[in-house]
Amino acid sequence: MITAAAPPAWNIFKQIFAEHWDGFTRVHPRYHTSYYAGLVDKMLGCGDPNQMGYIDYRCLRCGEGTHRVAMSCKSSLCLRCAKVYVDNWVSQVSHMLHEGIIYRHIVLTMPALLRTTFYQHTRALLSPFMRCGVRCLDDCFSRVSGHPLKGGYIMVIQTHGRNGQYNPHLHVLATSGGWDPAAQQWCHLDYLPYPLLRKKWQWHLLTMLRQTVKSKESQRLVDTCYTRYREGFVTNVQKGDVPARYQSLARYLAKYVVSPPIALRRIDRYDGHRVTYHYRSHKSERVEQETVEVYTFIGRMVQHVFPKGFQRIRYYGVQATKTFTRLKGVIQAALAKVNGLIKGAIKIVAPLTYRQRYQQSTGRDPIRCPHCQAEMGVWKIWHPQYGVIYDELKAIKGGKYASQEPRAAPTGSAGRTLRLAAGGVPLSLPGLR
Ligand SMILES: [Zn+2]
Ligand SMILES: [Zn+2]
Repeated sequence: MITAAAPPAWNIFKQIFAEHWDGFTRVHPRYHTSYYAGLVDKMLGCGDPNQMGYIDYRCLRCGEGTHRVAMSCKSSLCLRCAKVYVDNWVSQVSHMLHEGIIYRHIVLTMPALLRTTFYQHTRALLSPFMRCGVRCLDDCFSRVSGHPLKGGYIMVIQTHGRNGQYNPHLHVLATSGGWDPAAQQWCHLDYLPYPLLRKKWQWHLLTMLRQTVKSKESQRLVDTCYTRYREGFVTNVQKGDVPARYQSLARYLAKYVVSPPIALRRIDRYDGHRVTYHYRSHKSERVEQETVEVYTFIGRMVQHVFPKGFQRIRYYGVQATKTFTRLKGVIQAALAKVNGLIKGAIKIVAPLTYRQRYQQSTGRDPIRCPHCQAEMGVWKIWHPQYGVIYDELKAIKGGKYASQEPRAAPTGSAGRTLRLAAGGVPLSLPGLR
């Protein structure tokens, strides 16, 4: 994966980590691990062709035009790669949405007094947290309909609020109703009663917490939560016809879910010790500015990095791939009776290629030769670990085209993979798409 040109704030962000990461890990040994060190290293090298590797393009018609693209780091800490991450995320989720199915966007939160405990036991709690969201919604659906139902859920965990502080919550795209295994039919539910959802969520979350963190302190917290929040916990069902006319439900959801804790464009100032950034506050609906010590800033970025290999997006119930293929027809037929089939409700979004992203941000096609307008071809690929893994000049000298027609510009075939006989290193070339 490859990124386009970096915005100016990128240098500030890198400088902050370059100057203070070591000091930060001394104060916060939790982050003094090779995993985090690797993420920071990769992020600091992001966009530098000599550290990350690169692809050179060259005009194969006139020989004049060249373009070098540095590989990106894909580190979850990297704000430069955040846009690519969002695009890929949208593409992944949108492939899991099904036409003719009605989804609701539900947010499940936890009160502030539970957040510290959650942070201290992140590893143990993250997955059970997602699963208890599923149990809660199945429970609500079953209660409302009067018999056991299994809904379908696309569950995404997010750990930060708008100002980058720790605030773990779940975003759920839930089917409007569920599968009744006993009756072998789809049961559509038009709405979820709020009070029920709030209380059920409170019960499921606290029960999970009590079972997972067995300390005295956590048990005491659970009790406090029951007495202090008699109406249950905050849940939020986006009102209105969310999916029906949504061009892209996934892009809509991405807006809420996959933004980085503090986006690059929000960083205003850094004086070596303190960082100033702004954000739009939920409470005041105004733009608020905040100045924090540099360690606090770094902390706000890294506390949202998930453990290695952790899956942030998960599919549950009828939304799990295998089940869905089996039930999709039945569900669509049932919903068509209720609402009329919603045609084109879900748009499948293909991930943007490097070329499209570059074009979007600069208005210029990076692969078109500025001299003769031909489409440039891959000339050389260099990887820091494997060295030169593709060399067009060598190939030409070696007689690559000796018995062929003169080479035309690369065609627009969908993503090619170069697999070189010698090294056998497969490398996807999104730039060529
Ligand atoms: Zn990066
Ligand atoms: Zn040219």
